[in-house]
Amino acid sequence: MIRQDFQRIDPKRRAVLDHKKKQFAAPSFKQQDYPYRLNFYDVPPTAEITLEEFEQWAIDRLKVLAEIEACSYRNKSTQETEAHITPLLKKFLPLASNSSATSGVVSQQLRNERQKDHYSHFILRLAFSATEDLRRRFVRAETMLFRFRFQKDDSKERRNFIESLNLDWEPVSEEERLEYSEELLHSTPGLRRADEESWFKVDWERVPELVERRAIFMRKGKAYVPQREQLSMIIADFTARLEKAMELTSRALPRLDEDDRLTPILNHLSKNFGSAESVYTEGEGVVDGAPITAASIDPLSQHFPLCMRSLHMTLRKSNHLKHFGRLQYTLFLKGIGLNLDECILFWRQSFKGYSDDEFNSKYKYNIRHTYGDVGGDSNRRGRGYPPYSCQKILMDSAPGTGQTHGCPYRHFSVDNLTALLQSTGVHDKDVLRGVQEDVEKQRFHIACNRVFEWAHKAEIKRVKEDGSWNQTDLDTIVHPNTYFKRSYLLKHAEKPSSE
Ligand code: SF4
Repeated sequence: MIRQDFQRIDPKRRAVLDHKKKQFAAPSFKQQDYPYRLNFYDVPPTAEITLEEFEQWAIDRLKVLAEIEACSYRNKSTQETEAHITPLLKKFLPLASNSSATSGVVSQQLRNERQKDHYSHFILRLAFSATEDLRRRFVRAETMLFRFRFQKDDSKERRNFIESLNLDWEPVSEEERLEYSEELLHSTPGLRRADEESWFKVDWERVPELVERRAIFMRKGKAYVPQREQLSMIIADFTARLEKAMELTSRALPRLDEDDRLTPILNHLSKNFGSAESVYTEGEGVVDGAPITAASIDPLSQHFPLCMRSLHMTLRKSNHLKHFGRLQYTLFLKGIGLNLDECILFWRQSFKGYSDDEFNSKYKYNIRHTYGDVGGDSNRRGRGYPPYSCQKILMDSAPGTGQTHGCPYRHFSVDNLTALLQSTGVHDKDVLRGVQEDVEKQRFHIACNRVFEWAHKAEIKRVKEDGSWNQTDLDTIVHPNTYFKRSYLLKHAEKPSSE
C-alpha cells in the first residue's frame, strides 16, 4: 500500500520473492468506501499511500492510544478519560459521523478521516504484533478507543453499522421469552418486565463482562442478552476478532523483513508505545524569554524532573558528575535553552577543585561537542545532539557504581527513590504509595507524571478553570524537557505556545 515512487527496495531482491510473499510484492490496489464511521477493521487496506503518510498516521494514532493507556494506568474515571482524550482525538484522529456531511467536499473529508483511521490501525497492528505483551496492550487500548467511539456515535448510524456486521446473534423467540420470563427478570438487573426488551442468544464466552457481573441469564452454554447490553457484545466481538487477527499478523511478520522501508519504521513505533517519543521536536523545550543562564540553573532546578534534579543535586554535593551523567544533563540544559558559553561557565563553576587546565583538557571539549561546536559528523555540526527523551533514558544502559545518569523511577531502589522524592518535597503518602505501585508495574513515566500532577495540582486546576490551557497542553509527559517547560509555564502562569 506504499506508493511506488517511495520504494527503496533493490529491484534485484524484489525479483527473487517467492510466491508466498506475493502479497507483499504485488498488492492489488483498491480504494475502499467507508460507509460507516465505525470500523471493525476486518478488511486490510490495499490502496496506495506515501511512506510519509504511513509513518505520520501511525504516530498520530499511537499518540492517542498511549494517552488512553496512560489514563487507565492512572485509574482515571470514564468521564475523566473522555475529557482527556476528546481533544486529542479531534487533533490527531478526527472521525466525524455521516450526519456531519453536508456537501461533496465534506464527504471527501470524511473519507480521508476514515482512511487514516483504517490505515493507522493496520500499521500499528504490524508494529505491535511482535510480542505477546505488545499485542495485549494494543488490543486493550484499541478496544477502549472503539468503545469510546461507539458510545459517542449517532444512534442511527450505530444501528446501521451493527446491522452491517452480520453478527452471529440468535434472536430469542417470543415463546422462549415467555417460557423463561421469570429467569430473565431475576437474572437481569434493572429490568422490570421481560417483554420490555428484545433478546439475543450468544455463546456465553462472547459476553465475559456480563457473566463476570452475574448480570445475565444463562442456559445450555448460551447467554440471554437484552438489547441494551449490545455494547458488551459488540465490544467482546471487537476484542476477540482483534486478538485473533493479531496472532495471525504475528505469524506473518517475518515475511516483512524483506521490506527495508517499513521494518525500521515499525520497530521505532513499537518501541515508543507508552511514550510517543516522536512527538517531541528539537527546540520545543525552550521557554521564550525565560532567564536561562549559568547563574539561574540553581533556582530553575525546582522545575526539573527527578532525573535532572537528581543529577543537579549530586553535582552540587560532589562538585563532579561522571561522563554519562554529564552528557544527559548537558543535553537537557541545552534543550531548555542554555547557550554554549553559559553551559561551559556552568560546568566550570560547578567543578570546584579543578584547575582551568584540567577543566579545559578533560571536560570542555565534550561540552562543545555536545553542542555541535566541534567534531561529530557534518549533519550534527552547529546543532549537536538532541536532548534525551524518557524513552532513551529508560532504555539505555543502567548506571553502574558511582554513575548518576538514568531515570530514578527505573534505576533507583524503592527506598532510595522514596528518599529522593522526599528530599525534593514530596511527602504525600498517597503519591508515594502510587509511585511505588507504578514502579512495581514498570510504569516509570506514569510515576513521573503522577508526581508532576501532584506538584502542580493548584496550577493545573487554575489553568483548566480559566480555560487558558486545554487538555492537549496537559497530555502525558514523555520528555524531561517537556516536564521542565510545562512546570515553568504553569508556575509562571503563561500559556504554552509551541509545546
Ligand atoms: Fe526523567 Fe522521564 Fe524518568 Fe521523569 S520519567 S524522571 S522525565 S527520565
